[in-house]
Amino acid sequence: MPVARFRLIPRLLSWLAITVGACAAQGVGDGPLELDFTELMQGKNVLFVGAHPDDEFEFAPMLAEACLFNGATCHFVIASEAHSVGCSLAAEDTVDPDECSEVRREEMRRSAALLGGEVTFFGWEDLFYSHDAAGLALNLAQWAADNGGHDALVARFRSVLDERQPDIVLTLDPRHGSSCHPNHRAVAKLLFEAIAGLPPSTHPDVWLEADFWIAERLEGELKDIFMRGGIIPWPGVDTPLYWYDATKRLPNGHEAWDYLVEVQRVHRSQFPSLADGRPAPWVPREFRRIPLVRAADIDPDDELCEPLGLAQPAGP
Ligand SMILES: [Zn+2]
Repeated sequence: MPVARFRLIPRLLSWLAITVGACAAQGVGDGPLELDFTELMQGKNVLFVGAHPDDEFEFAPMLAEACLFNGATCHFVIASEAHSVGCSLAAEDTVDPDECSEVRREEMRRSAALLGGEVTFFGWEDLFYSHDAAGLALNLAQWAADNGGHDALVARFRSVLDERQPDIVLTLDPRHGSSCHPNHRAVAKLLFEAIAGLPPSTHPDVWLEADFWIAERLEGELKDIFMRGGIIPWPGVDTPLYWYDATKRLPNGHEAWDYLVEVQRVHRSQFPSLADGRPAPWVPREFRRIPLVRAADIDPDDELCEPLGLAQPAGP
């Protein structure tokens, strides 16, 4: 998830601090939204769908538990890894986009292998448009123009669904894509379209990453926790929120959270400060939980990025 730079808006920050604070105060697995993801994913055919190599890291604890210890089969789809600008953003330096893509594909293969799976790359361009509704529309239009039209984009997802026949799909939330990156949102929207075209009896159980990954809209303690690698839930939305507690111990004695850090280490181009093996910063327990929403509970056409005023960068 390349980090973009935006101006701070104090009013939004206040809103965020209040609503995120309220979410964080709920505690691990409070209330009726606790769900045993260990049981849910056991022995299942699981498909992760993301835009970029590294988009999977937040699901790594769940995938490690399911696919390394509980008999699940995991496969990864990365849709927009071609001609990547992601290395430049991470390294604060100019890197050839095609070289960057090769580096990131190899990192993704290693990440998938760490979690017991393999990767399908679609080869769509890693576009970087404005992080709002206009950028999302541009992103979808450009991919369609480059790859044979909108229906061909949906058909690409349909082909991988037909091939893999997943029971469970893990992906990004089309309403915000965690970081409002248009690639994240566009991938989820196209995937939703493809799933809608499946026979109803074969629809997978789809779960969405529900975190808030916009450093420029955080401040104070939450900003510090985020910069340490803690997971902040997307605030102010009344969609039911479910939690996977990544502080649990796996059969090999590792904390599930360790796999999130290990996957970040593998993505050296994105997490250079972790890649040399230094210990990851300490993260409070309540921020080592993974928030998720169920796709069936949302309207994928809702727009949660526009109110954040992320009109910059304007994109190419
Ligand atoms: Zn990403």
